[in-house]
Order: sequence, then C-alpha cells, then structure tokens
Amino acid sequence: MASLSRALRGMAAICPRRSPALGRGLRPLVSGAGPTSEKSVPYQRTLKEAQDASAAARGPSQPLPGTASVVVIGGGSLGCQTLYHLAKLGVSGAVLLERERLTSGTTWHTAGLLWQLRPSDVEVELLAHTRQVVSRDLEEETGLHTGWIQNGGLFIASSRQRLDEYKRLMSLGKVYGIESHVLSPAETKALYPLMNVEDLYGTLYVPHDGTMDPAGTCTSLARAATARGAQVIENCPVTGIRVRTDDFGVRRVAAVETEHGSIQTPCVVNCAGVWARAVGRMAGVKVPLVAMRHAYVVTERIEGIQNMPNIRDHDASIYLRLQGDALSVGGYETNPIFWEEVSDDFAFGLFDLDWDVFTQHIEGAINRVPVLEKTGIKSTVCGPESFTPDHKPLMGEAPELRGFFLGCGFNSAGMMLGGGCGQQLAYWIVHGRPEKDMHGYDIRRFHRSLTDHGRWIRERSHEAYAKNYSVVFPHDEPLAGRNMRTGPLHEELLARGCVFQERHGWERPGWFSAQGPAPVLPYDYCGAYGRRAHEDYAYGWLLGQEYTFSFPPHHDVIKKECLACRGAAAVFDMSYFGKFFLVGPDARKAADWLFSADVSRPPGSTVYTCMLNHRGGTESDLTVSRLAPGPKASPLAPAFEGDGYYLAVGGAAAQHNWSHIRTVLQDRKFQCQLIDSSEDLGLVSVQGPASRAILQEVLEADLSDDAFPFSTHKLVRAAGHLVRAVRLSFVGELGWELHAPRPSCLPVYQALMTAGAKHGLVNAGYRAIDSLSIEKGYRHWHADLRADDSPLEAGLAFTCKLKSSIPFLGREALEKQRAEGLRRRLVGFTMDEKVPMFGLETIWRNGQVVGHVRRADFGFTINKTLAYGYIRDPSGGPVSLDFVKSGDYTLERMGVTYAAHAHLKSPFDPDNKRVKGLY
Ligand SMILES: Cc1cc2nc3c(=O)[nH]c(=O)nc-3n(C[C@H](O)[C@H](O)[C@H](O)COP(=O)(O)OP(=O)(O)OC[C@H]3O[C@@H](n4cnc5c(N)ncnc54)[C@H](O)[C@@H]3O)c2cc1C
Repeated sequence: MASLSRALRGMAAICPRRSPALGRGLRPLVSGAGPTSEKSVPYQRTLKEAQDASAAARGPSQPLPGTASVVVIGGGSLGCQTLYHLAKLGVSGAVLLERERLTSGTTWHTAGLLWQLRPSDVEVELLAHTRQVVSRDLEEETGLHTGWIQNGGLFIASSRQRLDEYKRLMSLGKVYGIESHVLSPAETKALYPLMNVEDLYGTLYVPHDGTMDPAGTCTSLARAATARGAQVIENCPVTGIRVRTDDFGVRRVAAVETEHGSIQTPCVVNCAGVWARAVGRMAGVKVPLVAMRHAYVVTERIEGIQNMPNIRDHDASIYLRLQGDALSVGGYETNPIFWEEVSDDFAFGLFDLDWDVFTQHIEGAINRVPVLEKTGIKSTVCGPESFTPDHKPLMGEAPELRGFFLGCGFNSAGMMLGGGCGQQLAYWIVHGRPEKDMHGYDIRRFHRSLTDHGRWIRERSHEAYAKNYSVVFPHDEPLAGRNMRTGPLHEELLARGCVFQERHGWERPGWFSAQGPAPVLPYDYCGAYGRRAHEDYAYGWLLGQEYTFSFPPHHDVIKKECLACRGAAAVFDMSYFGKFFLVGPDARKAADWLFSADVSRPPGSTVYTCMLNHRGGTESDLTVSRLAPGPKASPLAPAFEGDGYYLAVGGAAAQHNWSHIRTVLQDRKFQCQLIDSSEDLGLVSVQGPASRAILQEVLEADLSDDAFPFSTHKLVRAAGHLVRAVRLSFVGELGWELHAPRPSCLPVYQALMTAGAKHGLVNAGYRAIDSLSIEKGYRHWHADLRADDSPLEAGLAFTCKLKSSIPFLGREALEKQRAEGLRRRLVGFTMDEKVPMFGLETIWRNGQVVGHVRRADFGFTINKTLAYGYIRDPSGGPVSLDFVKSGDYTLERMGVTYAAHAHLKSPFDPDNKRVKGLY
C-alpha cells in the first residue's frame, strides 16, 4: 500500500501544487464516478457483518403495525437516538423504519469523534448529553458496551489567534465543568511524543473527549429503545407520506407508506441522512441540504501511537483520529465533491477516494505527525454525508406540514451531536418545542424563499464546508449566496459606502465605510473547481479586517455612527424587518393569547411585547400596533372589520415568528388571517435628539409629545408619500420609524437626508444598533433573550400582563416561576478596563462560576465594554436582587479575568429620559 508521502508525490506530478488555504481543485462541480463496490471499513465490527447479507431481499424484519404514535424514518445515528429518547420520554408505539439495516447509510463508516468544546453554549450542552448517553446511560440500561473510547482530544494552534480561540473555549468549558488545559509546545510534546511542535503556539487538551463506535452505539440505542416498547423495523423503505387536510384547512401528516403496507401516524421524523431531501419531497417539504463525499484514510500500524488523543489541527484543516495502533486522517477540503445522484441503492457503500481532492490534507498531516511520511495507507473511507447552508443541522417541525419533523443535515457531526439532538427532537415532538434553545438548528431559521433555492443551498453549503475549521470570529459574514433579498434602499446605500451583513437571506446595512462602495460579488467558490477567485475584492478585504478578537480597525467608524446618533441623529434602514398583519374575526382573541403584553389598547397604540411558549420561554420580542378598521386595503393595511394588528418583528427571525404565530393560530383554531407584507414594505428609522427637527421638515404631522407621544403610530405623509410613522426606539433615543410601501422608501429616505444635512444626520448600520442597544440595556432576541429564557428572568416583567386576568400562552409557567423565585437572572456588567468581549466569557462571583456572557459589545457613550449574561446561585437557590448586588464579579475572557460591575438597570440613561425627548 502507498505511503502518505508517496501519495503526495504522485499527485504533485499530475496536478498543480495547492496550499491548504487556497486549494484550486481541477474537479468540475459535478461528481465523477458513482459509488464503488463495498469496501471493508476498519471497524472492529459493523452491523452489516453481524447480519445475514441477504436479509434485504426478505422484506421487513418484523410485521408492520397498522398505527404508530411516531414513525422515525432512517436507522442511522439520528434515527436511533431519536427513537431511544422518544421511548425514554414514555412515548409508546414509536416505530423506526430503516430501508436497509441500521447504520447502512452514513453512520457505519463515521470517524465517530466527539469533541466537547465548541464556540456555542447550546452545542456544548448537546455534546455533553451525547457523551453521557454513550459513555454511561446505554451501558447501564443494556449492559452493552457502546464502544466509547475516552482517549482525549487535542486542538492544535498554529497562530496566536487560534490559541485565543481555544482559550475562549477553555473559559466557556468552565461554565459546564468540562476539563481542558492550554498546553505549551513542550507540554504538548510530552503528551504526544510523535507530534511536531516546532510551529505551534500551543494546544488545547480536553482529556474527556473521545471516540464513538457507530455499530456499538446504534445497537445499544435500538436495544434500549425496544426494551421500552419502541419498534425497529429494518429492510423496509418508506415510499410515500400520506397527507390530509383538516377541517381548518391545515395540512397534516396522516400515514407512512411502504411496499409492505402503510402505517397511520400523525407524526413522522425525517432522519434519512443524505436521502432526507427525497423523503421531504414525498411530503412536499423542502429540505435544504446537499450530499457531498467526505473521506478519511486509515494508516498502517504506527509504533508509539497507542493511547494518544485525537487531534484536530484546524489551521491545516485536518483531524487525526486514533484507530487502535494506527491513525485515521481526514479533513475539510476547499473543493469537496458533490454527490449529485444520491442513489437509493447505496447501503454500506463507499466511493473510491479521489486523491486529487484528498491530497491537500496530506502535507498537513505529515507536518503534524512526521512519522506519517513513512507510514502506509491501509484503507480509504469515502462516503456520503449531508451538508447544509450554515453547517448546522436541520431540525424541528417543517413549516409546510404539521407533524413532519426534520432530524437531518448533520454536517459530519451527526455522531457527536446525535444524542443531544435526538433528545431535543423527542422533546420537541412530545411538547411542541425543544427543551433547549434550538433556534440555531431549527429549520425556521431559514426564510422559506431560500429552502428550495438550489444555487443558494449549494453555494452556502460549499462555503460552510470549506470554512468548517476556520476560526469563528464574532463579526464574520458569508461570501456565498448573497444578495438573495435586498431592500428598497440597497443600491442607494451601497453607493454611500454601506458594508452589508446577511441575515435570513436579506442584505442589511452593517456599517458605512468612507472608502467607497464595497459590493458583495457573486460567489467565486474561493477559487475552487477551476474558478477564478475575485481579485481586489473590497468587501472581502473589509471582511478580512474583521478577523480578530480585538477591536477591528473600523471600530472608530462604528463609534462615529453611534456618537452621531446620541449627539444629533442617525438614519437606519431596517427594511429587513418582518412585517405582518393579523386581522379577522378572532384577531383580538388571538392577540390576547399570543402576546404577553396587553396589545388591545385603542387604535394608534404601539406596544413592545413578547411571545412565549408554554414553558414561559421567549419565542420572540416584537412591537404590535393596533390598527383602526377600514373597508379599503392599502399596502399599509389590509381591509378589515373589527380588530387588527400590525406586527414588526426582527428580520433575522421573521420565519420563526411567522411559523410560531401560524402554529398557535392553528392549534387554537382562531379564525384570523396572518398576512406577510415584509417584502412590500420598507422601514426607515431616524433616531437621536435631532430626529424631531429633521422629521418635522419631511412629515406632514405634528410631532410634539402631546400630538405624537412615545409608543404610538399614525398614517402620515412624508415627502408626499403615505407612510406609517411609529414613535419607537431600538437605540434609546427620541425617534420615529417610517414604515413605507417599497416604492416610497427611496424618495422618503432622500428627503430625510436632505433635511438632515444641516442637523448632522448620518447613515448608520446594525453594528451601531448592536452597540447602542446594549448600551441602553435593550435585549436582542436569540442573544440575551431566547426561547429558553423567560421574560421574568430577562428583566422584561413589564411586558407581561400578569396583573390582568387575561390568559396568555406561557402565563401559567410565569406564575409558577414567580411563585417559586427566579433561578437565574439576566445581569449587565461593565468593565473598567477597555477590553473587547463578544459573548461566551465566564462570569465569576465571589470566586465561583455563576454563568456566562450571552451578548457583549462596546458602548461608546459610556466608553466601556458591556456584557450581559444569566447568573445562577451555585447553591441552587433563587437568585434574589440582593444576591446580584452583593457579589464581587470578574469576567473571564480567554483565561484572563477582568473586574466587573453588575448592573440591574442600564448604566446609560437609566431613567429613560431620552426616548421621551428629555435631553
Ligand atoms: C468520512 C466521515 C467521517 C465522519 N466523522 C464524524 C465524526 O468524527 N464525528 C461525528 O460526529 N460525525 C462524523 N461524521 C458524520 C456522521 O457520521 C453523520 O453525521 C451521521 O452518521 C449521520 O447520521 P444520520 O442518521 O443523519 O444519517 P444516516 O446514517 O445516513 O442514516 C440515514 C438512514 O436513513 C435510511 N433511509 C434513507 N431513505 C429511507 C427511506 N426512504 N426509508 C427508510 N429508510 C431510509 C438510510 O438507509 C440510512 O440508514 C462523519 C461522516 C463521514 C462521511
């Protein structure tokens, strides 16, 4: 068998030299040959070997039941984990249907690595659960050893920034009790003598990381699930999903069809791996993933490698997994091969390894463990895996079909995430929502216009794959799949130097550069697949400057935008906001139930409110404006009688809000219409002490406090165009939002800029909003306010109509929480030292870890870093205000602690004078 170095030399002769960072593959985008014949994968044992090879021909391994509470489709890591967790939650009559045999898709040939530390608190918790399942629970329940090996994990830092990233992870690990150590090169050498440490800055060693065995894990999961009454049926492909439309006109899952009969069920879980798109199509559900080939090679025996930890050398984009007395070497290429065919006939199959693509990993592997140069390759493992546009799984109930859940798109992490995700999916099915905040994995994080957009899915999935091992910087943006949804001011703002951010497919202003336009160009695949990489790419260059854990070079530009807003006025294009109308006979009942605040005030009122789930967690914060009824429809309001509401929701969560509201309306059978006008209306906001003077020149309305108080709205003319003016602020200033029909936005904006010139009006973007809003202490949904945080914990009790007798979704949970005392509380911190923070820093109180930072930014008016995080009492008791006030706090950033002051009220304008125009 060829050695790694021979493979490298061989390739050098036939293809141009690539650097791992700038690989230029010669492959076309389409995949080459189809699957090859089966190969032996160097696992101790696979389920295939354990069973009769002719089983597939014999039909289902058990008779099909006529009905099932839940049907899980697919018997890989996710299907088995979901079935097991459903059974553990006490769901009886759950059935798993596997087309072939368990693990036969991707799972059987996984590398099975489990790393506990990721730059996300939720992911750290999900991984911890998987580890607990495979290392403890399953063995206790079944007596079977899952094959879990705890050999530890070692992350390699070849740069200062990479080591900083690891130190960030180490600090977060302390919150969850995950042991980790930053090692010097010499300490690393002592731990792993075969490693080259000459070019290292250091490493992060996590002793309790390890390796999962796919066959052992899935066998134990199936055994434990069936012992609790679930059924596993192999050799039974699902061929169709039957859908019914209920009396209310809602599409719901009715049955699963197979060649051997159908099973009636209200609930299906699509855990079909790379085949999940096909299963989705059976039900008219869009599943935004692509199949790619993903590979590793297994070496011959290496003397001295036994018991070594697994390695992730992120900078070389490779991993080295301990495989008995050998290593498996794999990684993430810049030019992965898409698997277009996704053929059904692919059980326990592998592809021939394409050395042209894989070779880019070899140099890095040999550099890290030099003995590999002289080590032979025993076998290659190249199999299909599904990848998604943001490298995160697809989970939750599909917006198109009630009762159809997704548990797919696992981006080469489906073994390690399987336990945590299976548990959340089971909870979601049983309780209608997950226990943790799963928004980052929820299918509703994508706007519905994108989820079947082939180019967008492909480009974004490619970029996310190629960047999988890149440092996760706080202000990164994708370069792929951009300009999908643009606002009415897009071209105008671009010409004025706007540097855009992408959220939910929408281009929204990030900040404004004085260096001229920086358009986002069509995706160049970073030069892969023979494409020409963009040269002199202004946007790419500006983005590159963001790649730091310090303050970026244009920190001062954002400072100017913020201070202009506080000192004069700033105009923000917030057109990407979701804008919905809720009207119809039951609109009032629906509003009472959906919104935590009382929004049924007189027409003309605008209320900031939350929407909760039944556990009292916050699904959204939004503003709701009560409308006056009218017979005539316009872009600014539909025709309706009775009650009607205009909802403005954060644009990045528009689909989440839309689906949440629709689900509640369906579940409660409210007769009302939810109308999405997000694309038809733009939103321009002017904020700051000069906003009234500027707007008074453009709006034909009296803007005095008496005529137009805070938290109200009116239809008015602006530069001759009818707009809805709403007196509100996202930044803590006097200001108005103008919600205008799309064609009116540009003339209104231009009139504002003309009027504002003499008042010092500036353009500002979302980076300024982030800073200004945290300075004021306003929450950001999905940062310091999430579906697992209650408004009471988040300091938003004022948004809850608990003093009224009106029932609302989540009320009972809040009342219980209030009666029992809050177990955690959101607290703001400021540091005296000017230090950049971005979230995930550890919060220490009197020498004990009490939480971590969810959101942090720099506040330019107070000239301090601000950080918000939920704190707990380590004794487990309620967190009283006294507890918060009495502590001595430090925040740990990258292993260094900084003295911090706790605040229960924002240190900036704590008396709320500015929004009232009291300067
Ligand atoms: C080379 C490689 C290395 C990897 N390394 C790691 C790693 O180190 N750590 C990690 O966590 N992850 C790793 N992964 C990823 C991980 O293995 C996968 O994410 C995981 O196995 C996917 O599991 P799944 O259940 O989603 O899909 P699958 O295992 O593919 O299961 C889907 C199942 O659905 C069945 N099915 C499809 N259609 C139907 C139908 N119509 N009816 C019934 N059944 C159907 C299929 O037969 C299949 O068994 C790696 C993947 C690869 C390719």
